[in-house]
Amino acid sequence: MAEDKLPTRAEDFAEWYNQLVLKADLADYAPVRGCMVVKPYGWALWENITSWLDAEFKKTGHVNAAFPTLIPLSFFEKEKEHVEGFAPELAVVTHGGGQELEEKLAVRPTSETIIGYMYSKWVKSWRDLPLLIVQWGSVLRWELRTKLFLRTAEFYWHEGHTVHASADEAKEEMYRILDIYERFCLEEAAIPVIKGIKSETERFAGAHTTTSIEAMMWDKKALQSGTSHYFSTNFAKAFEIQFLNKENTLQYAETTSWAISSRIIGAMIMVHGDDQGLILPPRLAPIQIVIVPIFRKDDEKEKVMEVADRIFMELKEAGIRVKLDDRDNVSSGFKFNDWEMRGVPLRMDIGPKDIEKESVALARRDMPGRDGKSFVPQAGLVGTVNKLLVEIQDSLLKRATEFRDANIHEPKDYDDLKKIVADGWAFAYWCESNECEAKVKEETKATTRNIPLNQPDTEGTCIVCGEKSKRKVYFAKAY
Ligand SMILES: [Zn+2]
Repeated sequence: MAEDKLPTRAEDFAEWYNQLVLKADLADYAPVRGCMVVKPYGWALWENITSWLDAEFKKTGHVNAAFPTLIPLSFFEKEKEHVEGFAPELAVVTHGGGQELEEKLAVRPTSETIIGYMYSKWVKSWRDLPLLIVQWGSVLRWELRTKLFLRTAEFYWHEGHTVHASADEAKEEMYRILDIYERFCLEEAAIPVIKGIKSETERFAGAHTTTSIEAMMWDKKALQSGTSHYFSTNFAKAFEIQFLNKENTLQYAETTSWAISSRIIGAMIMVHGDDQGLILPPRLAPIQIVIVPIFRKDDEKEKVMEVADRIFMELKEAGIRVKLDDRDNVSSGFKFNDWEMRGVPLRMDIGPKDIEKESVALARRDMPGRDGKSFVPQAGLVGTVNKLLVEIQDSLLKRATEFRDANIHEPKDYDDLKKIVADGWAFAYWCESNECEAKVKEETKATTRNIPLNQPDTEGTCIVCGEKSKRKVYFAKAY
């Protein structure tokens, strides 16, 4: 088993991550550099993520649709900042059917342009608004430095694209989605996030305002985990999305777009994982509990399997995502390590002694060793397991929140800021000038993460230049 062990996080966090993704059976490298294959276990996790979000979007009036992968290259020229932002990452199709194409086609890196083009045809009157469409699919960005889930050329996501009659309604939509993203992270992924506004240099190409949720990983780097943008009329003007308002005059519409991608799986790995492998929050785990039957002789096997099968059915019928590991070609020890690596929140061992006592042994993934072990009666197991799953979910969020809060500091001065961002986040007043932001980035590699929506009442002075400043910002190194 020696070669199966991960490097510890402290030894080599990047390598720990790379090996964990493969060994937990989440994803694999594709033959095309920078692309990934999401394996069934990883995809099951993604499905649990998407089904929660999809339900929330539908509750708030959104509908799903599909737009094409190929976009005329000329569409990107229509919004100046958008083309500048995405040009370096575009993959372009020049040939099809053995012929050189007259019009080159981009493989979508994001779909504002094609969707904006279609919306200009669909939106005619105020009665057509708001238009609230979500597309689920993948996009392609030609990334040079890639890492499974965190940054791959092709990645999976949803992109919401909405059109509104007024700026207020569009901004309200941007924040409504940001709230859904925050709730997803807290309640489902057990990741505490900070909601805020991106600086001018960090915002989405072509956006008026970009908001984000930012999370702290185990190495204290930040990961932008979701974004929601307000475009004002920028894209409406580029794509002629106009409508007749109630006064019967033609006006440009207000639009938004927003996304969470398969990157969020990378965040879950880096926030919750330990030196033994992945730890998944029960709400999203494809397998919430694994049953490992333990026996030596055939007569033991018969007795143990009978009880294991019965408990498996009980839990399954109660809606718990349960797996019975009845492989007979590997040892129990192998199974323990395997499920530990894959981050299954709870393990249930059933052996001959448990059968006699009418009990089972439970082991919590988030508390390795004795602390996480308990012996419970077979009667009432559904209730016991459900209660423990809730406890594990809560304790993962608590642990991640305490870790994050312990690693955010308020610098006394600029030198202090430099020290803090070497191994944590700094929360400080900033004058919001590009110069001060660029200086921090150049001298420390830390960027502004976001200007949180919750701000102190008092004003302060910029941590870099000392000018008066109204709002505080988070500085951190980021993925
Ligand atoms: Zn400044």
